[in-house]
This record gives sequence, C-alpha cells and structure tokens, in this order.
Amino acid sequence: MTSSNARTVQKQSLIVQKYGGSSLAKPEQIQSVADSIKKLHDAGHQLLIVVSAMGKTTDQLVELAYKVSNSPNRRELDMLLTTGERISMALMSMALNDRGVPSISFTGSQAGILTDELHSSARIVDVRSPRVTAELDRNHVVVLAGFQGVSPVTKEVTTLGRGGSDTSAVAMAASFKAERCEIRKDVDGVYSADPHVVGDARHLPHLHYQQLLDMTFWGAKVLHYRSVELAALLQIPLVVTLAHGDDGAQTLIDGTAPMYEQAQILSVNSHKEVRWIRVSASNMSKAFEIFANALKEGSLPLPQILDSTVSPEGTSFLVTAPTETLNAIGQLAAQKQELLMDQTELSTVTATCQGSFASPLPDQIAQHLSRKSVMIHKMLFGAMSLSVVVAAADREKALQAIHDIHQ
Ligand code: ADP
Ligand code: ASP
Ligand code: MG
Repeated sequence: MTSSNARTVQKQSLIVQKYGGSSLAKPEQIQSVADSIKKLHDAGHQLLIVVSAMGKTTDQLVELAYKVSNSPNRRELDMLLTTGERISMALMSMALNDRGVPSISFTGSQAGILTDELHSSARIVDVRSPRVTAELDRNHVVVLAGFQGVSPVTKEVTTLGRGGSDTSAVAMAASFKAERCEIRKDVDGVYSADPHVVGDARHLPHLHYQQLLDMTFWGAKVLHYRSVELAALLQIPLVVTLAHGDDGAQTLIDGTAPMYEQAQILSVNSHKEVRWIRVSASNMSKAFEIFANALKEGSLPLPQILDSTVSPEGTSFLVTAPTETLNAIGQLAAQKQELLMDQTELSTVTATCQGSFASPLPDQIAQHLSRKSVMIHKMLFGAMSLSVVVAAADREKALQAIHDIHQ
C-alpha cells in the first residue's frame, strides 16, 4: 500500500480506533462508545473511528443472500454486505452529533479506500482521502465504514474479506500517520487461547508482530490476519483493548517484544472448519489450475490452503474459509467431476511457540492428545508453530489439552 495523503503537519495527535461488531450490537452500546469518543475529542484529539457491522448483521446478510440465491453473484454480495457497516457508521455519527461532537460518516468508497477488483477478498492498494483530511482538519470526528473499499479499475464497491475492518483501521492509521491505532473489542487483549473456549487462557500484554501473524494465520480470529501483516509491513504499533469499560488491560503489538529462545507455547489457536478437497490431477500445477478455474467459474474466492498431498488418485488440498465460502465450494465440487470435497469435518489446532525446531513439543502434544483420546490426523511443522489436524468434534478438547502443556 502506498500513501498519497500522508500529512506532514500534525496539528493535534490523531487516534484511530476500530470498534468491532460485538461491541456495537445494541443501540446502547453505540451510545456508550459515543460517550467515550466524546471524552477523547474534548481532550483535544483528532479522531478517526472505524466501525464494523452491528452484532451478527454480516452473518445475517450472508444468510439472506443464500436464501435468495444458491450462488450469489460476488459483486452483489459485496453490495449487500457493505450495508452492514453503513448502518453502524450512520448511527455512530448521529450519536456523536447528539453529544455536540461534530462528526461525519463515510463509506469506504467515499473515503477513497482503493482496492484491487477481487470481490469478497479485495486488497487495499492505496488510500486517497481528501475528504477525510478536510474533515479531520476541521476537527470533525470521521466515522469510517470498515471492511470495504472501491476498485479504481472496475469502479465497483469491494469487501476485504470477513473480519476485514481491522485491516481498514491499520490502513487508515498508516495513511494518516496516527499516533495510536487501537482495536477495541469484547476482549481486553490477545490471550494464550480464545478466552471464550479455554477458561484458564492467560492475557498476553505484549506481542511481536511475528507472533501474532502466526497466531492469526492459524485461526486466532481476535484480529484479521491481513491487519497484522499490514501493521508489520508498515511498522504500525497496535493496541488491542476493551471497547466498553476500562480494566486497564491491553495487548501491545509491535516489533520490539522480547523473543527468547525457549520451547514454550505462547498461544493455542484453531481453524474451526477445515476440509480436504481432492482434485483429479496427480500433477500439482495441473491441480492448481483446475481448482483455480473451477473457483473462478463459480465466482468464489480462493480459500486459505494449509497443506497439500499428491497421490496417484489426485492432489488434495487442506483448506479453510468462512463457512459460506466452504459451503459454496462444497456445492461446486458436487457439480464438478474433477473436484471432490471430503465430508470429514476437521479442525486445526496450533501451538504458536518459539523453539519448535528439533524440540520435544511434537511428542508432548501427541501424548497429551492421546491421553484425551484425540486422534491426530496430521501434524504440520512450521518455523514458529506446530499444528494438528483433528476431528472437528475434538477441537475444544484438543485446544484445552495443548493449552495445559507447560501450565
Ligand atoms: P470484533 O467484532 O471486535 O472484530 P471478533 O469476534 O472478530 O471481534 O474477535 C474477537 C473474538 O476473538 C473474541 O471474542 C474471542 O472469542 C476471539 N478470540 C479467538 N482467539 C483469541 C485469542 N487468542 N485471544 C483473544 N481472543 C480470541
Ligand atoms: N462485518 C464484517 C464481518 O463480520 C467485517 C468485520 O467485522 O471486521 O466479517
Ligand atoms: Mg473481527
């Protein structure tokens, strides 16, 4: 991403805050966030607020689309899904204006968030926001719809992929050289596992970009993978903290956290829905070609590929994607002779750690899982992590068992 409107004269400190959907689910929550923003505005900060769709709105819109169409057109799906954030931004701006805080809301396209043309998984290529600059200069709070942009090539509205509002916030923080980029959530930071699944998960006050990159690659949905990638690339420190109330806890993510040499598990995360897809070609390049063409034909985005194996029967890809995409790939595979989606419902569980190189961890993981009668379908070895593929029904048991190692 390049920045066309990096501001050279910083009159006041600019704070970018992103509020997630679970923190804006009810009108009262929007009002309570508006109260917090007013305090910051009164204290003299310039503010750019990125909002997600309220509560489960995006899920409901996806569901609605599939009730109307078996394979919703990707352009129209993006048109539909971007309305979720549009509702939040307008309501937030109303609440701020009611409190005497001058504010204006913008969609991604109004704010000049320029993306490539890939519907459902567009990437931000530039930010050209003269309107945002002008409003901030007037000391107005800018409320921006997250998760969306516009392609300068096709002139179409695009979305950045599920969870993409985090990435919108990082892009704005970079473009406007914000003093702080805060990602405000229903959790007060990043934990050693999803605190809603593993009861004794520990709060992690400081992480290196690389650590969170690994965690989000392997399914920690606390942040959008690409937001961490962009933050690391542009060296934007991130603060993850609570949207409502203030218990003082936060996680700071930057390039300075100490990374000792030790074989300790930092965090255990998971992709809930993982499937094998077999392509009937035993040649990897041919298999990729068939798979990519089929997805293109079904106007589906590429899933995240986690592993692949070649056998005389064909090439299998282990993939994960949002539920709606996986379901759509399943439907596509049912119609295409050269594709087969294995019906076994799988999950991955990953221990992000330093020192996985030639360490006892794989053995420890295997033993802990065996004691809990969890069968390991496959183990994957990475520079910073060890992952197991297990039956989806065993996911939570496996998360807890691996989290228990070294406790
Ligand atoms: P938002 O709507 O604010 O973007 P998300 O629901 O996308 O929020 O992400 C926050 C959720 O991520 C938390 O409620 C928590 O259940 C989940 N989560 C998964 N892994 C972790 C982790 N390692 N640390 C903290 N939260 C996690
Ligand atoms: N509302 C979008 C989603 O649910 C984007 C986001 O929340 O970041 O995926
Ligand atoms: Mg999210």
